[in-house]
Amino acid sequence: MSRENRFQALPSVERVLGHAAILELLRRAPRAVVVRAVRDAVAARREAIRRGRSPATPADLESIARETIARVEERLLLSLRPVLNATGVILHTNLGRAPLPEAAVEAVARVARQYVNLELDLSSGVRGSRMAHIEPLLCEILGARAALAVNNNAAAMLLALRTFAAGKEAVVSRGELVEIGGSFRIPEILEQAGVILREVGTTNKTRLRDYERAIGTATGLLLRVHPSNFALVGFTERVPRADLVRLARRKRVLLLEDVGSGALVDFTRYGLPEEPLARHALREGVPLVCASADKLLGGPQAGILAGSKRLVAEAKRNPMARALRLDKLSIAALEATLRLYRDPEALARTVPALRMLAEPAARVRARARRVLRGLGQGRASQSRAEVVACGAEVGGGSMPLARIPSYAVALRAARGAEALARALRTGSEPVLGRIESGRLLLDLRTVPDRDVPALIRALARVLDEEAPSR
Ligand SMILES: *Cc1c(COP(=O)(O)O)cnc(C)c1O
Repeated sequence: MSRENRFQALPSVERVLGHAAILELLRRAPRAVVVRAVRDAVAARREAIRRGRSPATPADLESIARETIARVEERLLLSLRPVLNATGVILHTNLGRAPLPEAAVEAVARVARQYVNLELDLSSGVRGSRMAHIEPLLCEILGARAALAVNNNAAAMLLALRTFAAGKEAVVSRGELVEIGGSFRIPEILEQAGVILREVGTTNKTRLRDYERAIGTATGLLLRVHPSNFALVGFTERVPRADLVRLARRKRVLLLEDVGSGALVDFTRYGLPEEPLARHALREGVPLVCASADKLLGGPQAGILAGSKRLVAEAKRNPMARALRLDKLSIAALEATLRLYRDPEALARTVPALRMLAEPAARVRARARRVLRGLGQGRASQSRAEVVACGAEVGGGSMPLARIPSYAVALRAARGAEALARALRTGSEPVLGRIESGRLLLDLRTVPDRDVPALIRALARVLDEEAPSR
């Protein structure tokens, strides 16, 4: 067929819209979306013919209808969608960190579609504070006199810095000038808060007298930061918290501690390294602490600022607190998550992030074997799939050296691990794994039992594409 004839053979937009499958599609998709998809599909074929590539992409009615359906289905999918996290990184920042506890999900659903007493005191009928729903819980769990929750830990720190040290100096150890997650960098947060960075000590050693010498009339506060995502080994020295507390008191300057992960329980009970607890910092006399709520706390994205009544009240009064405040959905999720901490023994069941951290490796292995069996002999041998021992990670910048014993299904693909990873990532139920020495590893520590059928389904689909003869 000549090029001219091929152009003429292209179906019109009207004809495609009259195709039975498209008429069916119009019953479940908005007309405007379908018409646009048909136009795009026809235009793509016209362009292919113009470039002389038409034989590779048939321009008949059937194939254009099929392509239209694919385009519409892609457009109907929400951009933000669930994925299966088989990376073995429990608090994966790119995947939304902690999955919420069931109780929090229910709380969010309950308040989402209704009016709520967000800022109303029901007993008196007068205007209340949105913090009233979480402040008493935070105080109870952290042992704080007062507390506030804002958008995230970066926001909590920004608010504290702006409120207590704007135009003044924040004294920080050089060993604590960290970058976390690529966008949270202590020097830059200070700069944005209008606070002058006063670095003290060296990268590996900072002593009390380094802080002492830096304190003067320009000092706004002393800042202690948990260098959560890196470890310093060898000849190192960090000032003990208690010494810093005493120094701050003696010099009458504020001490702010960023404890990072928001851990509320002792993680050594799960065989993990010790994490600083906000409760301990406050008990040791730190007047103000800040932390994340969606890391080891296992709740929604939020930042907590806790400490003395006077300091928290002052931070609340800062107009910036209004700009950083939480909405009703986050407050609902945070309240429900915090309530779970009243029963610490049940946390490994009730908080998904903690459940994944605490699950015995043998159970993870059993789940990996279940996936392997679910694939069936043919697919398993085609991809040389096997269950392997591996190390999962906490993630979210916490406990960088901790390797949690885990198990994965390891796969090889004729097309290579990268291509296999891409195919799994771009399916309708995206799966994310990690590549290690040429194999794709799907770590089962971060895939809950209920997602095993979906994982098997996604794997089967992608492996069958690779071996169309099955
Ligand atoms: C993660 C982390 C932050 C940033 O917390 P976000 O809640 O992501 O804003 C700040 N400081 C420390 C020490 C952290 O570990």
